[in-house]
Amino acid sequence: MNTEEELCVICLESFQDPIKLPCSHTFCAKCLANWRPSNVDKEACENTCPKCRAKIPVTKEMMNQRTHFKQFRTLLMTCLSSRNEGAIPFIAELLNFSQEQNQQDFNELKLKAALNAVDEKIARMDELIGENPEILEDVNPVEELPNEIRRAAENAHTDIVLEWLGEEPIPYERINATSPNKFYRTLLHEAEFIGNLPLMSILLQLGAEVNVKSSSGQTPFRQACHEKELHDAARLLLEWGAEIDNDCVDVALKYGRNKKLAKLIQSPLGGRRCELRGLTASPKLNGLTCIALRYLSDSDKYIVRVELTQETVKVKAENLKRRDRTRGDPGRLIQYAGRHEDGACKYAIISHCFGEGDGEWEDIERKYGDLRKEEWQLSDDPSDIFRGL
Ligand SMILES: [Zn+2]
Ligand SMILES: [Zn+2]
Repeated sequence: MNTEEELCVICLESFQDPIKLPCSHTFCAKCLANWRPSNVDKEACENTCPKCRAKIPVTKEMMNQRTHFKQFRTLLMTCLSSRNEGAIPFIAELLNFSQEQNQQDFNELKLKAALNAVDEKIARMDELIGENPEILEDVNPVEELPNEIRRAAENAHTDIVLEWLGEEPIPYERINATSPNKFYRTLLHEAEFIGNLPLMSILLQLGAEVNVKSSSGQTPFRQACHEKELHDAARLLLEWGAEIDNDCVDVALKYGRNKKLAKLIQSPLGGRRCELRGLTASPKLNGLTCIALRYLSDSDKYIVRVELTQETVKVKAENLKRRDRTRGDPGRLIQYAGRHEDGACKYAIISHCFGEGDGEWEDIERKYGDLRKEEWQLSDDPSDIFRGL
């Protein structure tokens, strides 16, 4: 039986990631986050407990956000003194620029306007946080990602990253560690940024949160939406269940100039990994997994690629059930496999699972093991390994 105390008064449901405030009232982490002024752009936020109006302590997220704006300020300053190409994607988003516009419009005037805007945000954060704030404990605290490890991920040095992560199982707080010096980005953000699909897969297999946010609110998927082309990394994240924010379509169109990706994520199952079911014409495909490559709105059908056989088929939406890749059901297991002579990292696919679970997996391996064996070999080119998979 649910008593009033067991329900969150904001969403009226049972608590998800409950947070207990010093006033002893408890709320879902998400509900409270929407309520309190964690984001300076939200006008209508409250700074007090929804139940008793006691002041809510400052969150770690708010502290991180202030740090973020301060870091952003430093970036703007370096841009004003000398061009810093790496900073452009961040600045472009804050300034509502598209990637193409900022080639011409990235002038001093705009940068100075941005600097003013950031200064205002910092002032507002200072006001919200106050001096010597009481800080609410994190629901899911994570470690600090050391600079050299973040740089290793940024430079595709997977061995260094894995060595730091240590023995499996890797604790949540480590695999999701954030970098205070770089907008609280995670290893997954860095791997996505350089489009290193094998490293992204390995991190997700080891428990990296697919929907993790940096201090600018950027998830790895949202970050992928900034890419001009339909980036393979965006697809990989969709297969792993990346949430699509309301503005992802806008980001893809406005910053990424990426109509293809925008179109894909506007369909309910676009880009998702799914299970085939209820097919009467080709019942042998039922229970197998596939990737929804394209949506045909006229017929409400998807063009999918079956993971096991690699065949491309057209199926009705009703014959697909979303089945995200998860740690327990990644579909394929990628492993780091040493370095080439030239120093580049090698990866291997060590196993596939296309069916409905362990029993199915064995059957399928017995049946199709030979067919796929050559793809279990080491691959030279990290992107090669994902071609057609
Ligand atoms: Zn709630
Ligand atoms: Zn209260």
